[in-house]
Amino acid sequence: MKPSMSLLIKNGRIITADADYVADIFIEGETVYTIGKNLPMNADTEIDATGKFVFPGGIDPHVHLDMPFMGTFSSDNYETGTRAALFGGTTMVIDFILQKQGNSLRAALEEWQGRSNGNCVGDYSFHMAVTDFNDNTKKEIKDFIEKEGITSFKTFMAYKGALMIDDRQMIGLMEEVKQHGGLINVHATNGDMIDYLIAKHRAEGKLSPLYHYLSQPEVTEAEAAERFVDMSNYTGCPGYIVHLTCEGALNAVRNATKRNQKTFVETCIQYLILDASLYEKDFDGAKWVMSPPLREKKDQATLWAGINQGLVQVVATDHCPFMWEQKKMGEKDFSKIPNGHPAIENRMELLFSEGVVKNRITLNKYVEVACTNPAKIFGMFPRKGTIAIGSDADIIIFDPHEKHTLSAKTHHMNVDYSGYEGWEMTGKVKTVLLRGQVAIDNGKCLLQKGYGKFIKRNKVSQVI
Ligand SMILES: [Zn+2]
Repeated sequence: MKPSMSLLIKNGRIITADADYVADIFIEGETVYTIGKNLPMNADTEIDATGKFVFPGGIDPHVHLDMPFMGTFSSDNYETGTRAALFGGTTMVIDFILQKQGNSLRAALEEWQGRSNGNCVGDYSFHMAVTDFNDNTKKEIKDFIEKEGITSFKTFMAYKGALMIDDRQMIGLMEEVKQHGGLINVHATNGDMIDYLIAKHRAEGKLSPLYHYLSQPEVTEAEAAERFVDMSNYTGCPGYIVHLTCEGALNAVRNATKRNQKTFVETCIQYLILDASLYEKDFDGAKWVMSPPLREKKDQATLWAGINQGLVQVVATDHCPFMWEQKKMGEKDFSKIPNGHPAIENRMELLFSEGVVKNRITLNKYVEVACTNPAKIFGMFPRKGTIAIGSDADIIIFDPHEKHTLSAKTHHMNVDYSGYEGWEMTGKVKTVLLRGQVAIDNGKCLLQKGYGKFIKRNKVSQVI
C-alpha cells in the first residue's frame, strides 16, 4: 500500500475501555477525523473490517531495548524491538534510561538518544531511572518534566552499588517529583535480603536457575511494596509499582487503598500465565530468569482478580531479551544469567487468548489494561490509548477467531528462543495502523525505521 493521506476502516467492531459498537472510522493524516455508521467519505485507502475487532494500538510501558548489561546489550535494538511490537499490535513503548551513579541524568538521556534517535519504527517514550539522587540530580528533575516531556522517574529498591537508591534518596526524589507533577515508578524488592540469599546459595554451591527463584521469595517483594506505598503516602507523590508479581505485594497496595491512597500497579503478561515450576527444568529455566521471578499458581489467581478489582491497572512485559548464548553466561552460576525474557510481540495476543477467550477478563478490560490505562497514567490520553475523534490513528484490526502458534521460528523479535514456544493462540493481529499509516498488513511491516516518533508526555494524571 502507498502512503495515504486518508483511510477508511469500514464496519469493524470498535472496542475501547468503555464502549463496544460497530462503525466506520475515517482517518485523515495522523489522526481520527470522524467515526460513524456508513460514513459517506471516499478515502485513498479503504479497509474492510467486517467481522473483526478494532482496538486502539497497544501501549507497553515497560521495555528495555538496546540496554547495556554486563558488557553486552539486550538483543532487540530500537528498530527490531519496535517493529516486533507493531507485529503484535503494540504501537508505542516506554523504555528506560538508566543514570550511571556519579553522572548526570542529562548524560544518560543523551546516551539513550544516541541509540534510539532515528531508529524506531513504532512510537516511544522514556522513563528516567534515577540511580543517584543528590543535589545536582535534584536540579534536573524540573526540566525533564517540563522541557523533555519525560514525566516518570524509575527507582530501584534492589541492585545495591549499581541501581539501588536508599530510602533517604527515595524520599528526597519523591518530594521533588511531586512538586513538578511527575510520578515515581519503582522496582519494589528488598535488595539487601536478596543479596544475602544470593550469596548464601552461591556459598552452598546451589548454582542452577532454580536458586534465582529461591533467592527472591515473595516476602522480599511484599516488604518493599509496603515500604514504598508508605513512603509514597507520606510524601504524597504518585507511585507506580512496576512488574508486581505476587499476593503479598498486592495486599500491601490493597491495604493502602483502605486509607484512601491510590498506588498504580503494573503486572506483566508472564506473571499472569507462567509459574515457577519452569525453574525446575535445569538450565532451560534460564529462559525465564527475570526479576522478580515467576511465582506460584495462587499468585496468578491474585493478579487476575486484582485486574478485575481495579487494583492492577496495567499489563506490560518488561521485555528484555537476550540470545541463548548471552543467557549461557550464567550456565555455571544463576547470578550471572542476564535477567529478562522476550514478550514485546506476544503481549496483546497472549492477553487476549489467555484472558478474554478464557473469560478471565472482559473485552473492555482488555483494552483498558493493555492500551488505555498506560496512556492515562503516563500523560498521553486521549492522544494515545483510545479510538476517538482527534486521537492519533493508532489502531489494531484483530481477528478474534484465527488460531496460530507462537514460535521463535516465526516471531520478529531478535532473539533465538521463545518463552512461549508452541503455545496455541486464539485471535490474531491482522492490520496495524500507526498515526494513520498502515504499519503491519498481511504479515509484513510497511514502515521503515525513523517513522517512530518520540512522544513528549504531559504531567501525570492522578486519576484514571
Ligand atoms: Zn524492567
